[in-house]
Amino acid sequence: MQDQAIYGAKMMQPGLTAADTEENNLRPQHLEDYIGQEKVKQNLKVYLEAARRRGEAMDHVLLYGPPGLGKTTLAGIIANEMGVQIRITSGPAIEKPGDLAALLTNLQEGDVLFIDEIHRLSRQVEEVLYPALEDYALDIIIGKGPSAQSIRINLPHFTLVGATTRAGQLTGPLRDRFGVLLKLELYSPDELAQIIRRSAGILDQPITPEGAYELAKRSRGTPRVANRFLKRVRDFATVLGDGVIDREVCLMALRRMDVDELGLDELDRSLLRAIIEMYGGGPVGLETLAAALGEEAVTLEDLCEPYLMQMGFLTRTPRGRCVTHLAYQHLGMRPPEDLSPEDSGQQSMF
Ligand code: ADP
Repeated sequence: MQDQAIYGAKMMQPGLTAADTEENNLRPQHLEDYIGQEKVKQNLKVYLEAARRRGEAMDHVLLYGPPGLGKTTLAGIIANEMGVQIRITSGPAIEKPGDLAALLTNLQEGDVLFIDEIHRLSRQVEEVLYPALEDYALDIIIGKGPSAQSIRINLPHFTLVGATTRAGQLTGPLRDRFGVLLKLELYSPDELAQIIRRSAGILDQPITPEGAYELAKRSRGTPRVANRFLKRVRDFATVLGDGVIDREVCLMALRRMDVDELGLDELDRSLLRAIIEMYGGGPVGLETLAAALGEEAVTLEDLCEPYLMQMGFLTRTPRGRCVTHLAYQHLGMRPPEDLSPEDSGQQSMF
């Protein structure tokens, strides 16, 4: 299967896990199957069409947004729509300039090179990337000392699709070399319900519209979470139900997985509780919080915070993280009398 081959090319990674392969089956292959992100899709359609009409490779694209929102999927779609191959790698996997040179020289004309977590590229590797992006060329130094020579190798015209959860950490020169910057937003429950129904169709799993919506509401705006819930709830429906995912099975399964009615899991709740119980509601610095919870700061920042902020449970201030009135309410705790009105959180979108 061609798609397998394409995504199977997750370079420099120690083999695909079963979960990876299943995730690939659920990935939309064309822009029209990609649900939500309307603004991104409309603009991308124009850029793709323009590149196709000119018979050129598409300009380099930077995708940014929290994990699981569809950045890898979109890179695959760009390649598919342009009718080219995609090579997939990630920032930390490209350790030396030579690794990048090997990747670049193996590309075909028009190919898409997808670099996930591009903010984690090392400085030396980035330096090699600049001429490749700008002039489609690789400058190689041969020899050492006074006899060292620089030779330039021409590369095929390719499209770099970079993905990052934190555009702010990209160096200025790298960011400036992307012609297209696309920001992915968290999905609405309606969009997630559509994604869940589509995935259930692919998995041949009967699901009621109410069941799909119940899962969608708790998927923290993230398709990867929605698909993961779908697979786990399918297990409960198979073993403890009649095989159909309806609202009742969803409620039972999510309760057993410790996911509450707004989609917060144990880690989210511990984070909020820690700020309240240990730091009087905040402000508290991210590193301090991470140490208190025994988690990595980046886990809290990438996985928990975007959703907690979107729900209006958490605010980031220059002095640190603070919880809001809504968080106290959600946890069934009494907010302190002196919590100022501006700490009362934005209205949630749900
Ligand atoms: P990221 O690269 O941003 O971490 P992925 O592209 O790996 O996210 O997406 C995670 C999963 O979510 C994929 O398996 C894909 O099936 C699903 N998915 C993401 N975005 C969409 C979308 N817009 N429509 C349908 N499914 C999606």
